[in-house]
Amino acid sequence: MATLKTIKELGDIRGKKVLLRVDFNVPISKTDGKTITDDGRIRAELPTIKELLAAGASVIIMTHLGRPKPQSAFEVESEFSLAPVAKRLNELLNVSVEFATDTVGEDARNKVEMLKSGQILLLENLRFNQAETSKDALQRAEFAQKLADMADIFVSDGFGVVHRKHTSVYDVAKLLPAVSGKLVQKEVEALSKVMDNPGRPLTVVLGGSKVSDKLGVIVNLLKIADNILVGGGMAYTFLAVLGYEIGTSLLEADQIETVKGYIQQAKERNIKLLLPADVVVAKEFPASETGDAELEGVFVSDAIPADKMGLDIGPETRKQFAQVIENSKTVIWNGPAGVFEKSAYAGGTSAIATALVHAKLKGAFTVIGGGDSAAAVRILDNCETGKPFSEDDFSHISTGGGASLEFLEGIALPGIEVLSE
Ligand code: ADP
Ligand code: MG
Repeated sequence: MATLKTIKELGDIRGKKVLLRVDFNVPISKTDGKTITDDGRIRAELPTIKELLAAGASVIIMTHLGRPKPQSAFEVESEFSLAPVAKRLNELLNVSVEFATDTVGEDARNKVEMLKSGQILLLENLRFNQAETSKDALQRAEFAQKLADMADIFVSDGFGVVHRKHTSVYDVAKLLPAVSGKLVQKEVEALSKVMDNPGRPLTVVLGGSKVSDKLGVIVNLLKIADNILVGGGMAYTFLAVLGYEIGTSLLEADQIETVKGYIQQAKERNIKLLLPADVVVAKEFPASETGDAELEGVFVSDAIPADKMGLDIGPETRKQFAQVIENSKTVIWNGPAGVFEKSAYAGGTSAIATALVHAKLKGAFTVIGGGDSAAAVRILDNCETGKPFSEDDFSHISTGGGASLEFLEGIALPGIEVLSE
């Protein structure tokens, strides 16, 4: 991966207008439609905004929020309005944040006109314009031109969207001097480090719901891993290949042949492949908040009762996985080990996160990729201390779910490629 140009390399940007693409696609409370329930993505962006302001630029921030379905060229759906985000950003920065009720319309253009060095303007939701995500390159180019006309420089810092060939990510970058922000820099650096030049042994921890969601990731990581540990829902298709009774656990029958191939490749490449030795089961997919009522016990993984479903890795598996993780120099983790959303099946995921903490303390570089995996370490507690995990417990927690997966697949990301052109 080519090194990306930074803001510093732009030289003097005093008085310049910077168009900054960020990922402020934050969760907003369904009850009141305005409370931001997790502002992590806004906080993660503050260093870049501060750097631009300190350099004397004015900053025009653009992002999408949710998936509004515009019928016409620009349509406001208030549930997807960025007004609450402008307010939150204002509180976090202690700098007044102007808000435009459109993106390239009259309000935005007027406010851009008035914008002075050190000031911030947030544009309304990019996806109110259908041109933002259009497959029609001409339509995107037209929208891109209007966005570019408002600024002197483009800074790409929405890592969560760099895998998308959207107007504000890709097309705009071709029209202005374009560099990456601090967040994109940090993401690309961390992910490139584990993929291109990892300290060894390199351990890959996989989980999540389906094998079929992760085929590309598995294929690519099979090329570089020393150890692969498989938990989560995808583990049961692996266990089925071994001929185990997996009860009613998640099975993707159409992936059996593919998984057979993975097991074969791991053998040929001398990769240590660990599957769950034991699992925590339930009678059915947990319906209650805690899942406790459905908790049916722990079984060795080749003797899961026919009417039971595996929802987490068991204690013996946690021990085996932790031992491999703690003796690694690099750990890439994607996919929760169980249904961590329910506390009765969160133990395996906490145990893996806790093992990553130990590995880092022993000098390993640890990376968490994937939206749910990153969410898990924000929700769960360290299973030894009983305290929440902190950002510093891991070398890098990726902010881009889909983008980090595509990175791990080894796919070129359009929003990154366009910056190195
Ligand atoms: P990521 O977003 O980190 O890539 P995924 O989206 O692949 O992760 O998977 C996350 C989901 O996998 C979670 O919602 C979790 O409940 C589910 N999951 C984990 N283990 C199991 C299991 N044994 N059976 C069913 N679903 C599971
Ligand atoms: Mg997910």
